[in-house]
Amino acid sequence: MWEGFDLYPFVCAAVAPIASAGASERAEIGLPDMQWSGVLTGIFIGMILLPIIYNAAFFPVLRERFLLWHGARGFCTVMLTIMLAPLAISPLLPIDSFPRLLMFFLFFDLAISISGPFLRSYLEPGMLSPKIYKLLGWSMPFTLAFTPLAYWVISNPTFVALRAIPLISVLIILNIALVQAFRRGSRAVKFQILAWAGVIVVSSASLIYNILFQAPLPGFFMLLFAAVIVEVIVSSVGVAYRFMHLKRQRDIARSEKIAMAKAALTDPLTKLPNRRALTSRFNDPAKEPIVGLAALDLDNFKKINDREGHERGDQVLVSVSAALQRDEFRDHSFSARLGGEEFVILFTHHSFEEMAEDMRQSINKTARALVPGLIQNVTASMGIIELRPEESLKSALIRADKLLYQAKANGRNKSLYDLAGRPSSKAAA
Ligand code: GH3
Ligand code: MG
Ligand code: MG
Repeated sequence: MWEGFDLYPFVCAAVAPIASAGASERAEIGLPDMQWSGVLTGIFIGMILLPIIYNAAFFPVLRERFLLWHGARGFCTVMLTIMLAPLAISPLLPIDSFPRLLMFFLFFDLAISISGPFLRSYLEPGMLSPKIYKLLGWSMPFTLAFTPLAYWVISNPTFVALRAIPLISVLIILNIALVQAFRRGSRAVKFQILAWAGVIVVSSASLIYNILFQAPLPGFFMLLFAAVIVEVIVSSVGVAYRFMHLKRQRDIARSEKIAMAKAALTDPLTKLPNRRALTSRFNDPAKEPIVGLAALDLDNFKKINDREGHERGDQVLVSVSAALQRDEFRDHSFSARLGGEEFVILFTHHSFEEMAEDMRQSINKTARALVPGLIQNVTASMGIIELRPEESLKSALIRADKLLYQAKANGRNKSLYDLAGRPSSKAAA
C-alpha cells in the first residue's frame, strides 16, 4: 500500500504544493490532468474494492482477523485516492482544501499503522518473535497518537520531522518483521515482500530524486499508483493463499475430529456401533422411537476360539456383524456389539420379533459364507423384549439378559420373548 519507508515525508512536501496548484501547475509538477480522470480513478478504486468485497465474503467462512485488516487497508487506499483525486465528494471537503489534506494524512497514517496488526494476524504462527509480534500490535495506537500533529504539519513543515518518528519506526518494525518471517521460512510473507517492494522502490527513488534535484520525481504519482496496484493485487493473492491454506487446515482438523468421534462410537473389530453409540441411539429423541430390544450371545464361542484359533474367532465375529446388518434388517434395526460375543439389537419396527429371529438364524449361514471351512456351526441365543412405556435402556437390557440366560439354560440356539406381557418361547428351526 503506502508503506514506502520515506513516502510520508515526501507526501508532506509534495502534496502541499499540489493542494494549492492549479491545472497548469499540476502539469508542471508532473501531474497531468488526464491521470485524474474520473474513469481512471474509478478503475483504480474498483480494483481496490474487489479484494475488500472478497475479504468480506471470506470472513464468515473463516473468522480470521487478517481479512478485516486487509479490507481496512484497502478502504484506506480508496480514501487516499479519493482525497488526492479532484473529485467533488462533499462541500465539506472541497478539492485541494485544508480539510481534504487533513483527511489524506489521517488515511495515510491509518494505512501504514494497520499494516502492523495485519501482518501479525496474516503470517503463519511462530514466524515472529514475541517482541516483534507485540510491537506490531502497538504500531497502530502509536502512529495514530501522532496523527493529530498533521493539523500543524501543513502550516508548519517543522512538524514533519516529528510526525516522521512514529511512521519511520513503524516502517522499520514492519521491515524487521518481514525479514524475520522470511528467515523463519514463512511462505505467506513472500507475497507481502513482493507486494510492498514496488511501493518501497518508487518512494525511495522519489526521495533520492527529491534530495538530489530539489523537485518531485517526474511521473511520481503514475509510478506510485502502478506500485499500489501491484501491492493490492499481490497482497490480495497472498491473503487468498493464506485463507485457502487455513481453510484446508481447518477442513483436515474437522474431518479428523469427525473420524475420532466416529471411532469413539465404533467397535474396532466388527465396525458395529459400540455400547456408547447404543446408549446414544436409544436416547435420541430425533430418531424413530425404539419399540423392541434383543440381547444376543453366541453359543459356546469359547470352543470356536479353542478349535479354530482366535483369529478365525475374530472372523466369525465380523461375519456376525455382517449378518445383523444385512439390507433387509438395516432399515428397522440398530445392532451394536457390547463386547466379547455379546450383541444388542434395537428395533423400530412393530413386528420386530420375527425380524430378530431371522437375524439370529441368518448368523450361521453368513458365518459359513464369510469364514470358509468352519468346523462347527455358529449359533446364538437371544432374549427379545417389547419396550415398556418410558422404559430405560438399563431396565430393558436387564429384562432381555434374563431371557437370554434362560435361553442358554434351556439348551442354547433359541430365542425367548417377552412381548407386552405375552411371554413365549421359540426354539431354533
Ligand atoms: P456361552 O454359550 O455360555 O455364551 O459360552 P461362550 O463360550 O460363548 O461364553 P464365554 O463367556 O464362556 O466365552 C466367551 C468367549 O469369547 C471367551 C473369549 O475368549 C471370547 N472372546 C471375547 N472377545 C473376543 C474377541 O474379540 N475375539 C475372539 N476371537 N474371541 C473373543
Ligand atoms: Mg457366548
Ligand atoms: Mg458372553
